[in-house]
Amino acid sequence: MDQLEQNKNVPSTEALYQGFDPVAYLQYNYTPPRADFERRSIVPWKLSCLHKAFVDDDIRGDILVDVGSGPTLYQTMSGCERFDRVILSDFLEVNRKELQCWLQEGKSSIDWAPYFKYVCELEGRSPSEWEEKATRLRSVVSDVVPIDVHQSSPISPDLLASSGADCLVSSFCLESVSNDFPAFTRAMQNISRLLKKGGYLLLIGALGESFYMGAAGLYIPVVPLEESQVCSSLKECGYELLQLCIYHLPPDMKVGVDDVTGVFFVKAKKA
Ligand code: SAM
Repeated sequence: MDQLEQNKNVPSTEALYQGFDPVAYLQYNYTPPRADFERRSIVPWKLSCLHKAFVDDDIRGDILVDVGSGPTLYQTMSGCERFDRVILSDFLEVNRKELQCWLQEGKSSIDWAPYFKYVCELEGRSPSEWEEKATRLRSVVSDVVPIDVHQSSPISPDLLASSGADCLVSSFCLESVSNDFPAFTRAMQNISRLLKKGGYLLLIGALGESFYMGAAGLYIPVVPLEESQVCSSLKECGYELLQLCIYHLPPDMKVGVDDVTGVFFVKAKKA
């Protein structure tokens, strides 16, 4: 079967994501037990990895792009202090609306305050300063834009100078919107076009996952990745791997909304 024939039989991202419910997705993944700040649950682990990556290499610059933001804000809470402009992006309008609602009216389907407080503490600030951090994030987000990582030009070319962004962050996007491993690598190649030479990619994703729930009864297929495959895609896309950390899910984090076995965090530099 040639590639064209194969593509005809594979449901499009648009079809797979029809019915995605931001409120349900946030409840499944961004409330306890996965977002329990009293212990090393998934969310504080991700926030710590992001914080440490920015600090260790003193990553900063003009533009940070978050690829496939979904309805979540946590992935830019450290970076917003270090970039003049942050661009959020998602394929689905419902997710872009959820983000806009928080940016413009301070309304959200979950409470982001514990997240801001936790990142304030990582930065050596008092948790009581969390509203200043929220204001900072609102002030640097310049755009919330449509994106399709399967296009060679994933966002509108007018948004970035031709040299690209200084840093890309992306969490749980590429593997959950690709039909197979080659498509995952191609999507990585596509988003890399948004990044400057010498720029940083901070990539978070699922290991060993075959599905996740995007709403009650909506099972979205995921490419089940192994650590070695993440490394080989990065190499193929011309990245120097600087750091790879793995979070192994303890049994009580396996709450039935996906079959993820681990989470990876990658810091890489575009050669
Ligand atoms: N980044 C968020 C997080 O950390 O929880 C959301 C990740 S969610 C698993 C995957 C996201 O990819 C969804 O928000 C979905 O709308 C978005 N998406 C779906 N198709 C896409 C595409 N072709 N290009 C970019 N993003 C896409």
